[in-house]
Amino acid sequence: MIASISKIKEILNNYNIPVKKKFGQNFLIDSNVVKKIVNTANVNKETIVVEIGPGLGSMTEELCQKASKVICFEIDQDMVNVLTNELSFENLTIVEEDFLKVDLSEYLTSNLRTIVVSNLPYYITTPIISSLIKEKEVSEIYVMVQDEVASRLTSGPGTKDYGSLSVLMGYYFECKYEFKVTRNCFYPSPNVDSGIVSMKKMQRDCGLNNEDKFARFVQDIFENRRKTLINNIIRKYPVERTRMEDILDKMGYDVGVRSERLSLDDMIYIYKEIGLN
Ligand code: SAM
Repeated sequence: MIASISKIKEILNNYNIPVKKKFGQNFLIDSNVVKKIVNTANVNKETIVVEIGPGLGSMTEELCQKASKVICFEIDQDMVNVLTNELSFENLTIVEEDFLKVDLSEYLTSNLRTIVVSNLPYYITTPIISSLIKEKEVSEIYVMVQDEVASRLTSGPGTKDYGSLSVLMGYYFECKYEFKVTRNCFYPSPNVDSGIVSMKKMQRDCGLNNEDKFARFVQDIFENRRKTLINNIIRKYPVERTRMEDILDKMGYDVGVRSERLSLDDMIYIYKEIGLN
């Protein structure tokens, strides 16, 4: 079992590998947490798993035992060298690549349920999640992220963590904060706790003609959280203040309402009402 403090230290020593902070390396050393993640993702022989950043293989080992196939993408050559020597599973493919530069569809050819399971490198959490939004082959995502990010991804209107990321996640996925993982489950131990978030893709038809344009609109209306929704909108879009006041009034909101009060459906409604669709 790789996910233990003694084994991780032994591998790093034997291979004489430094822990690389620049790649966000914090290795899981708690085998119960590994099992809990893999169980939460319901990995079985009908599942293809894409693992981003396998590191020394703490989760990879368990994933290979449960899944039909595991495809790992790891940027660090030292890690790839360890994985190649230490793991011998026929259903494992290790790709030495920066995941952000990979065309995932080239690796996914089967019709089996395809999911992502990853203890994400924290420094590129948002770009990775944004890139996965558009991956048609991937139906579910299970990621370990910093606890604060987990809250932001899964929070609803009116909470302090609700922002453009929560809205956009809510558009594409059904997101759930699964469970917290404390910092002492990693080596080296990071400064903050983490959380596991599950994201299940949803088929939505909100009648949006251009999803990217709507995504920009959502980002724009959260740009200055201290400003009212109306001020955030009229700063960027050609709409009269009085028109915006009428719309909010019709929706039952005060004219001074801030963006964080609005649900995804409210935002779609306003977006269409002001003629952006
Ligand atoms: N999965 C391992 C575990 O749980 O112990 C390691 C997780 S560690 C938080 C993140 C891993 O992602 C590291 O192995 C790191 O080298 C790798 N990584 C960082 N940036 C990457 C990138 N752009 N593409 C692929 N892997 C990356």
